[in-house]
Amino acid sequence: DEENEKDKISYLIRKLPVLGNLFHIHGKIGKGTFSSVFLATLKTSTNQRKFAIKHLVPTCHPRRIERELQCLQDIGGTDYVVELDLCLRSAECIVFVMPYMKHDRFAEYVHDMTVDETRNYMKALLVALRRVHKFNIIHRDVKPSNFLYNRAMKQYRLVDFGLAQQYTTESNTSSQAETCVIESQPGKRKRNDVNDETGPVKNTGKPIDVQCICYGKPRICSICLSKSAQTAPRAGTPGFRAPEVLLKFPSQTSAIDIWASGVIMLCILSGTHPFFRSPDDCTALAEITTIFGSTKMQQCAKKLGRKLTFSENIPGIDIKLLCQKLQKRNSLHREEDPNTSCSNKNQEKIDTAYPSAAYDLLIRLLDPDHCTRITAEEAINHTFLAD
Ligand code: ADP
Ligand code: MG
Repeated sequence: DEENEKDKISYLIRKLPVLGNLFHIHGKIGKGTFSSVFLATLKTSTNQRKFAIKHLVPTCHPRRIERELQCLQDIGGTDYVVELDLCLRSAECIVFVMPYMKHDRFAEYVHDMTVDETRNYMKALLVALRRVHKFNIIHRDVKPSNFLYNRAMKQYRLVDFGLAQQYTTESNTSSQAETCVIESQPGKRKRNDVNDETGPVKNTGKPIDVQCICYGKPRICSICLSKSAQTAPRAGTPGFRAPEVLLKFPSQTSAIDIWASGVIMLCILSGTHPFFRSPDDCTALAEITTIFGSTKMQQCAKKLGRKLTFSENIPGIDIKLLCQKLQKRNSLHREEDPNTSCSNKNQEKIDTAYPSAAYDLLIRLLDPDHCTRITAEEAINHTFLAD
């Protein structure tokens, strides 16, 4: 692997000699589907300022590269949005140079954030999103690995505009009243439809599949025949996709980022990561339904011109009780686990008793209805974050 990494660095320098003239490239610090990120320092300076060099995979669509560059240039540098120092390009090779920010791993802090820490973290995330949304841009991939956090320094950076998208704010002409029956298929349960023990959400709603009632019948119904192909963006990460994305609603807005920030907050308040496993979109909808109940999800779907059918009524659960139970269960697990190198093992009990305002904000961020979901601006002024 180390060899491989060295190869990659020398390849990069060969393709982009100016990069090698300017920087010492030390090693890989991040890898996503569309990029590799390297740590670098300047050759020409004695200061040890660190940079993160993001090298996009050569198969990236040029429009995607252009969009990421545009976002970094227009939006970056303020309000906890990562700054772009330099962009270098030769024919098929492109890199973004950004200030490096040392950060902690979500899995390490999600369990033991204090109430104040959560408040500051969520405030910073929402301030960053407010900035992005002012530009009518949807980030589309809000998740912990794209919101860097340095615990000790209390620093935050929203990164990765690789999936960002411009959207129009003119009143969303509701999509054609297409009906899509999500029918229960008893007996067709896939092995991974149910979360394993570590996942908090049990899919009690039985597996569901998106299909019309004519599905499987010898004739396709006239409604289906007259339908145009349904296309809706669904880029993002499983577990963080909003209901309107899962239901393939075509006119998506910045509200999808707010949902994702709600999922992050849900992880923190429950001390659980990942919270939703969402191996596919239908299971993801079932998981969300377990929390909000089938009636609410059906209403939400109806507003989007979709019909959701469940094999049974699912009542929904109290999100506050759920978080408190999970928080307790997880901390007991950690106390019992001899492997926890936990620095805070004998530390005074961490203050994780969240005020009800925290749960109130959580529910507003996770409003299944994107029209009534709280905005970044409103969330920043919410009681939990305001003081
Ligand atoms: P991808 O599109 O491949 O997910 P990202 O922009 O999210 O690319 O970067 C991948 C990872 O690299 C991040 O999750 C983070 O760990 C690291 N990274 C990205 N930018 C920086 C930065 N400015 N400072 C420190 N680490 C960074
Ligand atoms: Mg990323």
